[in-house]
Amino acid sequence: TDIGSQKDRVVSEEEWLQKWEMGNIGFHKEQGHPLLQKYLDVLLNGRSGLRIFFPLCGKAVEMKWLADMGHSVVGVEISEQALKDFFAEHSLPYCEEPVPEISGAKKLQSTSGNISLYCCSIYDLSSSILGKFDGVWDRGALVAVNPRDRQRYVSLMMTLMEKNSSYLLVTVSYDPNKHKGPPFYVPESEIKSLFG
Ligand code: SAH
Repeated sequence: TDIGSQKDRVVSEEEWLQKWEMGNIGFHKEQGHPLLQKYLDVLLNGRSGLRIFFPLCGKAVEMKWLADMGHSVVGVEISEQALKDFFAEHSLPYCEEPVPEISGAKKLQSTSGNISLYCCSIYDLSSSILGKFDGVWDRGALVAVNPRDRQRYVSLMMTLMEKNSSYLLVTVSYDPNKHKGPPFYVPESEIKSLFG
């Protein structure tokens, strides 16, 4: 089946950058995700002023939502265009600085300081650079990761989580034979084995 053949599929960073350049970004949702509203209490668990991580963030509007609620948001995305569009579309002033630990990487930070977006590959990051997080919003991230990199991705995410951290993973059930991806099909059994 196609689940088998997806295992070896690779979408390169170049291809992602091209999608952004061409405006081929059907995954972006202007309205934000209803499931974040629905499960916000699970993510926050009564806590305030959290550090929330957005892996493979694109220009997700949920980053603005959480920042407006008083949390501090950190995202990572290889497309600089995505990050610049994010700040522009929300009329947020920001400044740019290099990330000394990663050659070629940049950090774009809102002037108010509560949104920091790293422009680099997620695999260049570590908890020594980012610190740890109280919560993770994973929508379109695990499913965008190349199947061969899933274990590496999840292991990294684990190292970024504080003890009482919550991880919201948006999942969709569908017939994997109908889509070649991305997003890639991640069977429920694999989610369980990856996250334990
Ligand atoms: N989470 C976002 C975007 C999902 S699409 C949303 O909800 O809208 C996946 C995004 O991951 C794309 O914007 C792509 O450019 C980015 N991406 C792909 N590989 C990456 C990597 N290795 N490191 C960082 N970002 C990556």
